[in-house]
Amino acid sequence: MQGKVDVAFNLRLVRQRIAEACWRVGRDPREVDLIAVTKAVDPERMKQALAVGLNVFGESRVQELVRKYPDFPGVRWHFIGHLQRNKVKYLAGRVELVHSLDRWPLALEMDRQARRHGGVFRVLVQVNTARESGKFGLLPEEVGGFLREVAGLKGLQVEGLMVMAPFSSDPEEVRPVFRETRALFGRLARETGVTMRYLSMGMSGDYPVAVEEGANLVRVGTAIFGPRECMLKEG
Ligand SMILES: *Cc1c(COP(=O)(O)O)cnc(C)c1O
Repeated sequence: MQGKVDVAFNLRLVRQRIAEACWRVGRDPREVDLIAVTKAVDPERMKQALAVGLNVFGESRVQELVRKYPDFPGVRWHFIGHLQRNKVKYLAGRVELVHSLDRWPLALEMDRQARRHGGVFRVLVQVNTARESGKFGLLPEEVGGFLREVAGLKGLQVEGLMVMAPFSSDPEEVRPVFRETRALFGRLARETGVTMRYLSMGMSGDYPVAVEEGANLVRVGTAIFGPRECMLKEG
């Protein structure tokens, strides 16, 4: 069991900070959707979140999502973590949006599984805007060409971009990463035929800055559920 955390209180604070970030830059807070990142969060605490009105959950491990899935009917699941090709089949029909498309072989497998399932995977392309070595995501200059190739796959529908900013204790340091990703998002919307709806950026440490820079999906775990000190065992 995880320690006592007041999910309702935390959630009010997060929503308040999102609203304040919006007001600072003249945005409507209703443009920003909050994804509650439930990785390593126990089901009890997830039920508290449901009780206070959160119903979009983000998971970063396929096994954990599949295990929790049957206990939360009506929840809208987003997959936000690195995705292995051999796990794609478990996500078909379960998730609303995959944030982490980052390579062509994965696109091919997602296309294949979507068709088998008679549906479409809605996806965001993950961008490594900060060019961190060893991190997932396409480089900014690769995304345009990638979108043109993926456009030929009927089982995939690209709806935007996702970025993870480098870790920093000072959120101001990552502002340029968000700003550059936002600029890329706008450029791709103009130059490719793709309807870019979602810009997924911002986590517990930096979501107000991400919202100021144009994020409309934020992925927040710790700030809602507390620290993930007790990792759930993989079952
Ligand atoms: C874990 C995770 C988050 C949430 O992280 P917090 O710092 O707990 O808010 C967001 N996005 C991705 C891709 C993650 O893996």
